[in-house]
Amino acid sequence: MERSCARAVEIGLPAIAFTDHADFVKVHPEQYCVDINGYLAAVEACRAKFPDLRILSGVELGEPHWFVKETADILAAGPLERVHGSVHCVRIGGELIDASDFRHQDASFDIAGATREYFKEVLAMVEAGQPFETLAHLDYPKRYWLEGAAPYREEDYEEEMRAILRAAAQSGRVLEVNTTRGNVLCPGRIVLRWWREEGGRAVSFGSDAHDPDKIAAGFEPARQMVESVGFKPAKDPTDYWRR
Ligand SMILES: [Zn+2]
Repeated sequence: MERSCARAVEIGLPAIAFTDHADFVKVHPEQYCVDINGYLAAVEACRAKFPDLRILSGVELGEPHWFVKETADILAAGPLERVHGSVHCVRIGGELIDASDFRHQDASFDIAGATREYFKEVLAMVEAGQPFETLAHLDYPKRYWLEGAAPYREEDYEEEMRAILRAAAQSGRVLEVNTTRGNVLCPGRIVLRWWREEGGRAVSFGSDAHDPDKIAAGFEPARQMVESVGFKPAKDPTDYWRR
């Protein structure tokens, strides 16, 4: 975290948010649950060390609608300033699989069907009323597309994504533009336009960096895209972009 703060200062970011993972499903080596008290102490230590950088606390709740008590326990340790909700895992044929493993399936894997399952789960999460503000990496499976499968096209999932966006807009949520894949923005322009059309009011930027060197990578194309769809920056650089 300290190296990330140093990097943020170096590249001139006014603020940084650490939204560490609270994953309660463990089917992938990268899933883990933050030690929330240790994390909050680390945020305080970073704030003391980098007084000119705004350091926002936060968490990324994985599948919070499946883990209501665990989610409440994490949030009770707060306050947390940025709370993301995200789905990583879907149940396919009775088995839980992380969508980042879609790319490792064999050629018989129905990736389009699995992606529909994924979106169904995101809708369930948004509708379940768990206390998260930002919808993280809406089209996560597209980052892990199976080689040889028909390419991912947003239009193929328009109905599913619009239903999610409508529910997210109605509950006052914020849509994250996740830039972890650089120029492959998650979600891209078409979906951002649907977000606007479905009543979405705010957008956040997340580089999902997991590494100090990748902080804010991809923010420039993301900024251009978000601006082109009609969202504007706030005066406070830590605030969301709004229409
Ligand atoms: Zn995630």
